[in-house]
Amino acid sequence: MKNNRILRLITGIVLLALFVFVLISTVRNYDPARLMRDAQPVEVTVTVEVTVPVPEPQQETPAPEETAETAPVSAPDPESPEGRAAALGLPAPPDVDVSGWEFILANADHSIETYAPPEIETLEGQQFDTRIIEPMKAFVAAARAEGLSVFLSSGYRDYATQQYLYNRKISQGYTPEQAATIVLPPGTSEHQTGLVCDITDQYYDPKDWTVLEKTALYQWMSEHCQEYGFIVRYPKNKSGLSADEAKNSVTGIIYEPWHYRYVGVEAATYIMENEICLEEFLALYE
Ligand SMILES: [Zn+2]
Repeated sequence: MKNNRILRLITGIVLLALFVFVLISTVRNYDPARLMRDAQPVEVTVTVEVTVPVPEPQQETPAPEETAETAPVSAPDPESPEGRAAALGLPAPPDVDVSGWEFILANADHSIETYAPPEIETLEGQQFDTRIIEPMKAFVAAARAEGLSVFLSSGYRDYATQQYLYNRKISQGYTPEQAATIVLPPGTSEHQTGLVCDITDQYYDPKDWTVLEKTALYQWMSEHCQEYGFIVRYPKNKSGLSADEAKNSVTGIIYEPWHYRYVGVEAATYIMENEICLEEFLALYE
């Protein structure tokens, strides 16, 4: 039994020594260069495309020519309609004769006294200067073709009628100053020119802008009026929303989305597109 154990011990030592010898030989014989030599050669083809940028012939930068073409455009005369418009950031205004009948101005600062249109014609119960009957008919017909309910509420009012309306406001408790922002004193109402019409949807209160401006009638008519030569005469951005506000506004009266004024297609287009009022338009030509 004892001999047997010694024999196993010797065998174990011999095997261990043999393993260590093999390991050391392997490490000593490791030669990467030889491994490379013995390996199969591998052909590697590397294609490198090289694009050499060819400089394009230099384009000559043209020197700024000092000719009339590149010289600054001379500014319009500041005393001309173009110059006054440019100073306000507006495009050149149309070439119109503001002394013509389409441009009669009636406001608190500009009385037309006892002026009356040369000829008056009645349309749907309202009177107008005969010269705006055709444009008015076309405007109203176009709105009706859109399915809108158009009601001609008030046209020409003569001096005496305006006197009556103004006096009536005062009798209702307004001061003359307050009354003047709602019903203009005789001679200063645009209704006396015969070139205007209060247009309402017959189903709505004509004197309530908060209601009227939301109607499809107002939305369509205010968008298309210039195509027929009319303007929204007292627009929201140039008038007051109350009697007190009106006093300090450009037009001097309350916002009236029902009140359309004829000025001709050219002037109306300019006024509506540039969101100005008649006073501001006429000031360009002074
Ligand atoms: Zn009116």
